[in-house]
Amino acid sequence: MIETPIDYNEEDQAVVSAFEALAPEEQDGSFWSDLALNELKSRVKAYYITAQNTRCCYCDRHLGSTNHGVWNTEHVASRASHPRFMFKPTNLAASCPDCNINKGVKEVLTTPNRKTYPKTSSPRTSSAFLIIHPHFDRYEDHIHRINMVYLPKSKKGKKTIFVCDLLRFAQNFIDWENSAADTSFEEEVDTVFDEEPTVSQAAVDAVIAKLPIK
Ligand SMILES: [Zn+2]
Repeated sequence: MIETPIDYNEEDQAVVSAFEALAPEEQDGSFWSDLALNELKSRVKAYYITAQNTRCCYCDRHLGSTNHGVWNTEHVASRASHPRFMFKPTNLAASCPDCNINKGVKEVLTTPNRKTYPKTSSPRTSSAFLIIHPHFDRYEDHIHRINMVYLPKSKKGKKTIFVCDLLRFAQNFIDWENSAADTSFEEEVDTVFDEEPTVSQAAVDAVIAKLPIK
């Protein structure tokens, strides 16, 4: 969980303020690719790589590198569909490229047409998002991870596993043939989860006991 969002320097804040002053129909997520933003983007990525202790915000893998080439800057609410939140410090994080690509533009807001970004101080902030939010949620409250096998502990955990395709690693750590493509693995994972908002540690442990995790 990220403790403190980035605080833009004066130069970057001027760019952000100018963008956020535009009329909604003039705010375009493709502005992120403007060459003029290269230094701002580099500072954002460097900040979150360090703030996250070089762990991907979705798969929780410790990438162990600060090289920008092995990281993507992540917009929790996609900049393509929600350009108004493109520069919100709490909408930004660092992820591995595979999680970022799998997540793509999938909707993660509970109310997609909301106009303002949820405030950190609000008790309902976490529930404004369908997936684990790097700034607002504790990863371990929602996903139980053993090696690279991911088990949901909550609806958010399950949605995060789906949105970022965290079952993609299963083949290497579940000891049965072609496990990543084997739907029986997903069925086993599903058994840990019912319509309750959270599942007990005992239920998670019961599934773990059945899985041949290396
Ligand atoms: Zn990842």
